[in-house]
Formats: sequence, C-alpha cells, structure tokens
Amino acid sequence: MSCACCGKKLANGMIRKPDTTTGEKYKSCPHCSVANGKEHVLHKYPQEFGKTSARITAKNPDGYQSYCISCRRLTKGASSHNYTNGRVCSSLK
Ligand SMILES: [Zn+2]
Ligand SMILES: [Zn+2]
Repeated sequence: MSCACCGKKLANGMIRKPDTTTGEKYKSCPHCSVANGKEHVLHKYPQEFGKTSARITAKNPDGYQSYCISCRRLTKGASSHNYTNGRVCSSLK
C-alpha cells in the first residue's frame, strides 16, 4: 500500500514533515500508517518516539525508534490504537 498523499509506502517510517504553523516536527509511524490504510500517520518527533542508542546507525544517527511509543507497547500482531491521535500526511505540508 502506498500513501494517497505522498505516494511512498505506508510501511515507510522515514517520512518527516514539519508543522509549518507551530514549527513542530513530525515523523511517520509505519504501524499507525498501515492501520490508517490510506495515508501516513505522523506523530510528534522525537517526543512520541523516543530514542535509543541501540538503533544508532549511519542511516539513523539520532537513534530514533521506528514505531511510536504506543505501538511499541502493543503485543505482537496487534493493530495500532494510536493512529487516530496522529496527523495524517495530507494535513502536513
Ligand atoms: Zn504520505
Ligand atoms: Zn504508531
């Protein structure tokens, strides 16, 4: 599945967009986006993701988590509950 807004895969957790009104940064959660099924769902970054030194790589120098905090707490295989709290791709420019 691809995002109806930007055309990138919903499972892509690397989508980053700022809210140009507030200046806050948002990043896509792949699990929330798949639960939405149409567009990326983005949450405030890094507040709603958290960082871990275990994930620091050349591609991920900040060590950010791919999934939002809520999705990481889900039992394996459970669908996202948090996607309705995020911002959809088309609501951010
Ligand atoms: Zn998108
Ligand atoms: Zn999520």
